[in-house]
Amino acid sequence: MPEGHTIHRLARRHNSLFAGHELRQSSPQGRFAASAAHLSGVRFDRVDAYGKHLFYRFAGGRVVHVHLGLYGSFVDGPQPAPEPRGALRWRIEHDDAYADLRGPTACELVDDDAVDRVLARLGPDPLRREASPDEVWRRLSRRSIPVGAALMDQAVLAGVGNVYRAEALHVNGISPLRPAASLSRAEFDALWSTVVTMLKAGVRAGRIVTTVPSDRSRRSGPARVEDAHYVYRRTDLPCRRCGAAIVSSTIAARTAYWCPVCQPGG
Ligand SMILES: [Zn+2]
Repeated sequence: MPEGHTIHRLARRHNSLFAGHELRQSSPQGRFAASAAHLSGVRFDRVDAYGKHLFYRFAGGRVVHVHLGLYGSFVDGPQPAPEPRGALRWRIEHDDAYADLRGPTACELVDDDAVDRVLARLGPDPLRREASPDEVWRRLSRRSIPVGAALMDQAVLAGVGNVYRAEALHVNGISPLRPAASLSRAEFDALWSTVVTMLKAGVRAGRIVTTVPSDRSRRSGPARVEDAHYVYRRTDLPCRRCGAAIVSSTIAARTAYWCPVCQPGG
């Protein structure tokens, strides 16, 4: 599932390609056809990213809410756009560029009240300037569930997925099994700082690289895939910090990875 950095990158990309244009819209697959026809030729103002949600705002207060879910993806490019094929839910385009959306969990025309209802279910998004760590702490510190589950709960904070969960907890020496309520404020503050830094780096790079060069097998050049993470998908491989075997277990329906020595307890 795309994490918050992917969603924010998409928003930046689509704003630079499409904001201010009256877009032609279609749904070759048919499932969004009526809404696409309704919005075709309407000026697109901007798209906002919030957690894993995208809100495409059009003149007249009309909004398209998109959630990619596990399988959704956008592709874009210059005109001429390719012939539509596959389950193409939503195409937006103008004379110079197009973007195609396939396989989203949500692609729906909504009003501001519906946007508010989606936002009301979400905790702060670390990639948004107004995000309040105090508010995340308030939501996290009263949960008895494992911190590895709380970090994935979009009502606690919005945008963190499985990779950032594993990596941010490892960097801070916190076991994903520890109850969220057992974290000290100092531990939380350090964890928050790591999450913000990692997500911003992900937006810049377009990929998740959490390791520093001195912790990689090849210390110069871009991080190779096998060097990009400390614990994510490294079950049974040695911890880059202490050499202990990385362990994994299912937490909040996804596989969590951690070092039992660097991240004790729980
Ligand atoms: Zn370790």
